[in-house]
Order: sequence, then C-alpha cells, then structure tokens
Amino acid sequence: MGSDNSTDRKTIFVVGLGMVGIAFIEKLLNLDENKKYRIITCGEENHLAYNRVALTDYFQHRSVEKLYLNPVEWYSQQDPESFEFHIGETCTHIDTDNHVVLTDKGRQFAYDHCVIASGSNASLPAYADLSLPGVFVYRNISDINSLISYANKGKKPLRASKVSSGYTA
Ligand SMILES: Cc1cc2nc3c(=O)[nH]c(=O)nc-3n(C[C@H](O)[C@H](O)[C@H](O)COP(=O)(O)OP(=O)(O)OC[C@H]3O[C@@H](n4cnc5c(N)ncnc54)[C@H](O)[C@@H]3O)c2cc1C
Repeated sequence: MGSDNSTDRKTIFVVGLGMVGIAFIEKLLNLDENKKYRIITCGEENHLAYNRVALTDYFQHRSVEKLYLNPVEWYSQQDPESFEFHIGETCTHIDTDNHVVLTDKGRQFAYDHCVIASGSNASLPAYADLSLPGVFVYRNISDINSLISYANKGKKPLRASKVSSGYTA
C-alpha cells in the first residue's frame, strides 16, 4: 500500500539540477510508485535543467527554454510532496554528521540521502587568466551570455581562438 503521509517519506537531496541530476530525479519519480521518497534539489544556475550538449545552438536561437530537457510545465505538474526544486540557489555546505545541506540563501535542508550531481568545472591551462578581458570558459548559459555581450561591444568583427580538446574542439 502506498504511503500518503509525507513525513514517512525519506528525503533525497540532489545537489545540482543539471543533466545527471534531472535524469536521476525523473527516474526516481517514475519508479517510486509507493511514494516512499521526497526529492529536493537546488541548482545554482538560474535555469531549469537544460541540454548542455546543445549549448552551441544557443548562439543561434538565444532561448534557454529551447534547451530545457523538460518543459516548464513538467515541474509544476509534479506532486509537491514528491518533488521540490530551487533554482539560482547554491549548496554551500553538506553537514554529513547531521544530514543537512546549507545553501547560499541561508536555508537548510535535512536529508536522508544526498546525491551530488554538481558536474564539473572547466580545467584551465596555467596561462589562461579569466580575469583578462576576452578570456572565457565555455560551460554554461552564463558563459555564453558573457561571450556574446563581449563580442557585441566591439565595433568590428572579433577574431576568436579556442583552447580545447574536448567536445567543443
Ligand atoms: C559545450 C559542451 C558540449 C558538450 N558536448 C557533449 C557531447 O557531445 N557529448 C557528451 O557526452 N557530452 C558533452 N558535453 C559534456 C556534458 O554536457 C556533461 O558531461 C554533462 O552535462 C554532465 O552532466 P552533469 O549533470 O554531471 O553536469 P552539469 O550538466 O554540468 O550539471 C551540474 C549542475 O550542477 C550545478 N551545480 C554545481 N555546483 C553546485 C552547487 N554547489 N549547488 C547547486 N548547484 C550546483 C551546476 O551549475 C550545473 O547546473 C558537453 C559539454 C559542453 C560544455
């Protein structure tokens, strides 16, 4: 028999609402027929989970919604007892002794299980100084927006050089 009392549920906290985070969340929501779990997630970006692999397309359409892995409505259709999400909120500390996640908005989330799906950062060569004008990493929407705004400031077309050996190479 399904449990309909949310206090009986185990809380799973997911750090990061990215490609892996949302895949995990969707799978668990689908499998949790007996309503045993409550999932809470915080994503530091100001966007719902999007397809980072298609980031380059953003240069053309400039629409984050086109990259969303699930439409905005999908989030509002979820049972709030099963799924709670926060965007633009960074997890700053995991207190593993007390099973609590702290965020940059001063909130605390108690958890039974914590899944870290926070992705990675670009690894930079020693000579790449991001504080210099015109030097960018290429990982997320905010990076692309910075790049576009930098390029738009120039009066003539800019020349770009790319340092990469990964998917964007
Ligand atoms: C331009 C580009 C093209 C790519 N092309 C391909 C490809 O063709 N094929 C392929 O297999 N892979 C590709 N990749 C790699 C692929 O995007 C990653 O492997 C994938 O996104 C990893 O998923 P993830 O959920 O682990 O990390 P991410 O998608 O990076 O998601 C992690 C999320 O967690 C958030 N986060 C981090 N720290 C915190 C915190 N403390 N609190 C809250 N939130 C946090 C991040 O902001 C991010 O939104 C590409 C990547 C890029 C950038």
